[in-house]
Formats: sequence, structure tokens, C-alpha cells
Amino acid sequence: MSFTRKRVLVTGGAGFLGSHLCERLLRDGHDVLCVDNYFTGRRDNIAQLLQNPHFEVMRHDVTFPLYVEVDEIYNLACPASPVHYQFDPVQTTKTSVIGAINMLGLAKRVGAKVLQASTSEVYGDPTVHPQSEDYRGSVSTIGLRACYDEGKRCAETLFFDYFRQNKVGIKVMRIFNTYGPRMHPNDGRVVSNFIVQALHGEDITLYGTGSQTRAFCFVDDLIDGMIRLMATSPEITGPVNVGNPHEIPVRELAERVIRLTRSASRIVHRPLPQDDPMQRCPDITLARSLLGWEPRVNLDEGLALTVDYFRGCL
Ligand code: NAD
Ligand code: UDP
Repeated sequence: MSFTRKRVLVTGGAGFLGSHLCERLLRDGHDVLCVDNYFTGRRDNIAQLLQNPHFEVMRHDVTFPLYVEVDEIYNLACPASPVHYQFDPVQTTKTSVIGAINMLGLAKRVGAKVLQASTSEVYGDPTVHPQSEDYRGSVSTIGLRACYDEGKRCAETLFFDYFRQNKVGIKVMRIFNTYGPRMHPNDGRVVSNFIVQALHGEDITLYGTGSQTRAFCFVDDLIDGMIRLMATSPEITGPVNVGNPHEIPVRELAERVIRLTRSASRIVHRPLPQDDPMQRCPDITLARSLLGWEPRVNLDEGLALTVDYFRGCL
């Protein structure tokens, strides 16, 4: 098999998913340009890559144009945790929408393929379960989560319009809850919150009754799906759901974390945030058939690896 080294741009490359993606692309033999404004990303996430001559980092905000020469673009720049994306909601919408326009414009100019890190949030608080790609979603346009949900929905629209109007090669991936090492300990997402609280012996904050469900995908599986989607032939545009279909109530996640960490923490209830989806689970039939992809890491294995990571950094 012949191998071609590619020049790959990863926006949001110093974040949780972005840093794993940069690592994987370097391992696969490519040149990687990581672009990040460090809003939620950390230099520590990419510190181990800085000595690699095929890795380059640029501090840049994707809401401003970027002029580089690359073959592929993975557009991950955007805060993903509700706490972070609600901190400056106007900037969140700008990052999704103007960031998408800038990356699509770049892709058009240099003839690059571009993959958008979209999200299960485009389905909102879903009335269809599990969610397949043809479900159009149930999203509030005015709620606290709308800056993220509607920003990502508009980005998808832009991707498909650049595809139809300008023949840009696009791949749209709808990512479901993903967890693993290098999540930010204070980002407010449920897996990091519960593990950090359990390791500190603090109360575990369960929002609402904990009967709302989520399905958690380990980061290595997710990155594998991303690489496979980028490698598909040009007529494959997505959107494609990528996530782990093993769905559990959030209460069960809290119990598993307590068990795994042998913590003495108690579960305490806090109010459910506005527009918090009651259920979420991906239908991954399309990912299975198009990408030959299947998650491999089960929840207890993935949580154990994530607990080890947080033990190391706390
Ligand atoms: P993260 O917050 O760790 O990473 C986002 C990165 O983007 C950070 O490094 C941040 O500094 C950077 N960034 C934010 N705004 C920027 C801007 N204007 N210009 C340049 N860089 C900017 O989050 P993550 O979990 O790694 O998510 C990565 C992508 O995947 C996001 O687009 C997110 O919407 C999407 N996603 C993630 C999940 C998940 O469960 N992790 C689920 C669905 C979608
Ligand atoms: N959650 C919780 N306690 C926390 C953080 C989150 O019970 O300390 C709940 C949250 O209300 C939601 C689920 O866990 O129902 C997942 O939240 P997260 O912010 O990780 O991601 P979401 O899927 O809502 O975007």
C-alpha cells in the first residue's frame, strides 16, 4: 500500500479531543498544524508533541481568517462543555458560525477536505429515540444552550451549502458524549465532575433525579471514527453519528464512578439545568455500514483509564 504524508490542520487542537487527534495523526505519519486560541485548550495537552518536527502550533482564533496551505482540515474549535460555552455565548455562536465560514473558505481556496465536529446537540431534547441522522431535532432557539446547538446547526448548513455551491469536500460528524484522559478537570461535564468529586471525597452533584440518560464513548474510539470518516470517498458527506450506543441513566454513572474509585462520596441532588435533554443515545447503523466502525472500549474500562488520568493530575 502506498502512503502519502498529508499536511493536516486541526482547529481546537489543544483541547480534549483535538490533542488526541493530533497525536493520532502524527502517529499515522502526517504533518500536523494545531490551531487554538486556548480558550478551553491547554498547552499541557500537547506538551508531549512539541518535540516532534512534524508538529506545529499556532495561537489563532478561528473567527478570524487563516491563510495556510493544507490538504485536510479537522474543524474542532469550539468549547464543548455547557459551563464553558455559556460563559460567553455570543463568542460561542461566532466560533461555530464564523469559524465554519473561515475554515470552509480556506478549504475552498486550497482544495482541502474539511471535517466538521458537529454534535448530538443538533437533536436538542429529542422526541425520537435513539437518534438517527434523519431526525431533525427539537432545539430551543432562545434557551441557554441555543448558542451552541444553533451555532452547530448553522455550521452544518454552511458545510452543505459550500459542498453544493463550491464543491468543497465535506464530512460532517455528529459526536455524542465523549470522555477520557485530558478532559479539563473543571469543565463541568458530567464524567470529569463525578470523577474529580469522587477522588476528592466531595459530594457527587447529580442534577435532577439522575434519570436523564446519556451514552458515553471513550476518546480513542471516537478518534478512530473521525479518521475513518475523513478517509471516505468524496460522495460521503455525512452527517454521521459517532458515539457509543450503551445508554445509561446519569445516576448509574455516579454509582459506577463511586464504585470504581472506592470513594466515600455521597450523591446529592442539584436542580436540572435549563433545556437539559432527558434522553440521548446514538443510532450508529450508518457509522457501522459506512465506516465499518464500532466502539471497542466499554464504560468500565474507559472510566478506569480516565480515573487513572485524573489521579495523576490532581
Ligand atoms: P474542548 O473545549 O476541550 O476543545 C475545544 C478547543 O477549541 C479548545 O482547545 C479551545 O481552546 C479551542 N477553541 C475554542 N474557541 C476557539 C476559537 N474561537 N479559535 C480557536 N480555538 C478555539 O472540547 P472537546 O470536547 O475537545 O470538543 C472538541 C469539538 O468536538 C468541539 O467542536 C465540540 O463541539 C465537539 N464535540 C465534542 C463532544 C464531546 O463529548 N467531547 C461532543 C460533541 C461535539
Ligand atoms: N450532570 C450532572 N452532574 C454534573 C454535571 C452534569 O448530573 O455535575 C448531568 C447533566 O445535567 C446532564 C448530564 O449529566 O444531564 C450530562 O451533562 P454534560 O454537561 O456532561 O453534557 P450534556 O450531554 O448535557 O451536553
